[in-house]
Amino acid sequence: MPLSTDRGAVIRGLIRDIPDFPKKGILFKDITPLLADPRGFHMVLDAFAEEFVGTHLDAIVGIESRGFIFGAALAARLNCSFVPVRKPGKLPAAVDRVSYALEYGEGSLEMHKHSIAEGANVLIVDDLLATGGTAVGAAELVRKQGGIVLAFAFVVELAFLSGRERLMPVPVKSVVTF
Ligand code: AMP
Repeated sequence: MPLSTDRGAVIRGLIRDIPDFPKKGILFKDITPLLADPRGFHMVLDAFAEEFVGTHLDAIVGIESRGFIFGAALAARLNCSFVPVRKPGKLPAAVDRVSYALEYGEGSLEMHKHSIAEGANVLIVDDLLATGGTAVGAAELVRKQGGIVLAFAFVVELAFLSGRERLMPVPVKSVVTF
């Protein structure tokens, strides 16, 4: 059988649903089958690269942990810096920190101080956009250091949670939508 060239369909087919993880009622979108498939992984990076190759990007900020996988690979392709945003207590040097609302309670994110130059053009990458709270927190960190958030990029968007609206007016690129 010939390989499908429908990028969206191929990528969708490599995302596995895991019910009730990490807690009851959550349908977890598992991207590990996509990572295990070199063609699918290339397709995701192609979709991002096509979107941003003409844009002047100084840095890609990847959100822990699955944002590191796609963000770092894309930074290498687009010849820009990669900067990790991590959960508290993981980064070794002095950090800036933001707190943001989660569905239940509050989360925090950290980025090393002086990671983003004043006026730098930044793309924020994560595997999945749900409510948008995590991405808003990462954007706040970038802006705190004087960076400009040019766009957000996600492999998966859960459109029914309307996260995109929280990120407006910054453009959002997602490869597949559920
Ligand atoms: P949110 O802040 O609500 O947009 O949540 C996005 C973050 O939580 C991302 O880092 C995702 O990896 C993770 N996440 C949220 N919901 C899911 C889900 N249904 N499947 C996989 N990851 C999820």
